[in-house]
Amino acid sequence: MSVTQTAARPIGRPAQNFLSRPKHLFINGRWQPAVSGKTLEVQDPATGDTIAHVSAGDRADVDLAVKAAREALENGPWSRITPSERGKIIWRIGDLISQHADELAQIESLDNGKPFAVARFGDVALAADMFQYMAGWATKKHGTTIPISVIYQQGAKFHSYTVPEPVGVVGQIIPWNFPLLMAAWKLAPALAMGCTIVLKPAEETPLSALRLGELLAEAGLPPGVANIITGNGETAGAALAAHPGVDKIAFTGSTEVGRSIVRAAAGDMKRVSLELGGKSPNIVLADADLEAAIPGAANAIFFNHGQACAAGSRLYADRRVFDQVAEGVARYAEKIKLGSGLDPNTEMGPLVSQAQHERVCGYLESGRQEGARALVGGEALPGPGYFVRPTVLVDTQPSMKVVREEVFGPVVTVMPFDGLDEDIVKQANESIYGLAAGIWTRDISKAHLLASRLKAGSVWINCYGVFDAALPFGGYKQSGWGREMGEAVLANYTEIKAVTIQLA
Ligand code: NDP
Repeated sequence: MSVTQTAARPIGRPAQNFLSRPKHLFINGRWQPAVSGKTLEVQDPATGDTIAHVSAGDRADVDLAVKAAREALENGPWSRITPSERGKIIWRIGDLISQHADELAQIESLDNGKPFAVARFGDVALAADMFQYMAGWATKKHGTTIPISVIYQQGAKFHSYTVPEPVGVVGQIIPWNFPLLMAAWKLAPALAMGCTIVLKPAEETPLSALRLGELLAEAGLPPGVANIITGNGETAGAALAAHPGVDKIAFTGSTEVGRSIVRAAAGDMKRVSLELGGKSPNIVLADADLEAAIPGAANAIFFNHGQACAAGSRLYADRRVFDQVAEGVARYAEKIKLGSGLDPNTEMGPLVSQAQHERVCGYLESGRQEGARALVGGEALPGPGYFVRPTVLVDTQPSMKVVREEVFGPVVTVMPFDGLDEDIVKQANESIYGLAAGIWTRDISKAHLLASRLKAGSVWINCYGVFDAALPFGGYKQSGWGREMGEAVLANYTEIKAVTIQLA
């Protein structure tokens, strides 16, 4: 296996134009440099070359953005707009994303390294869907009337109802693995519920969020409703998490940073929702259709180069089919073509950054030292670029670091189990995480029984990684607090007010 050498598809004029524009912070509907004047370099992970500079926002810029968001929430047109008008603006954002899909996908592919087709038909398409699904909730989220039984005064009667209100100014901190899609997951429901926002994209992949900022303005979002601060997590992100003018923080990223967000938010009891790491079990029973389960298990880990919180990184196969499954996934891995995301032949791009490359290589080394054996892969490719060969590890033990911790790279461990009994349920649930799980079987009863025993926010049966704007997604245990997407996410962005009137 090698990195493909064919020429990358040239990027189109709209993406080139975007790359040539200055990339500043989006505050109160205007593009402005960081107060400090500092910038950050953005790299193409396929080559390590610098492709852009963005403003490096910090505490002073977060302050300005939070003030703009507060003003827009309390006094701007956003505070007076009808739900229907709000929904139409959100719908238009989705339309604009679709209209600029090729451009956005090229920017995403260049910045993150993922294949153009994945960005175009996965990330960008789902981002547009997310805005259009959430547009509908702007007019549909309502309170209820509640019959109450309290004895208050002789003969008193009451009328009680609830009203969902926007939670307020929301700080949203997102990661680099699905940059545009994560922005959509966060912005769309918050806008639908009438919140105002300060969004901080990951320093590795800020570009698509900045292009999205331009589209938000074009869709008619009033100034200050959504502000975008590019910058480092330790400065801009931490300032946002601790800012007293922020009512709620929504975070996606590592469990470790999630903990620091909780600590920062504790001072003034900000609302917090967290979508964190995973180490998801994918279980192949002996009766599974292996022609579907093997490529399914391979895609469950190798999609997005394994840089997905829900990746099926612990593969369990019934001992009777273990060799077939492990070798089948290894054969699949061996054929994956690595290259630049903009090369049409590429099936898997580079990891997002040198830091991520070192981190994944560290896990491969620890697996080797603890006795795991690579059926395929097990090493990085020589540079330039941050490529790691898709890897299938066997002879692993539950105690190994590579089995317990989130690798966030194209590395799967395959372990045997004996029949559908307590052992596999115990092994699957033996993790600090509880984000997702997969089950492959032809027996629907076994599938339901197993699904009911798994401690995971999403369970996929005879499929893996099926995401839809209407389906809630989030984790049990240390995989997070709250849910993204679906009706469930609206709770992240609303306060419920209960009003009770004594009827005369
Ligand atoms: P982080 O959790 O560090 O990054 C996620 C976001 O948080 C980024 O925008 C980052 O900013 C920001 N951030 C970092 N530190 C702070 C802070 N102290 N306060 C507020 N915000 C902060 O993930 P990494 O990029 O370091 O990746 C490390 C590991 O995290 C991965 O290997 C993977 O295991 C996990 N991860 C999980 C993801 C998921 O989808 N659940 C997504 C990404 C990573 P910046 O990048 O600018 O520093």
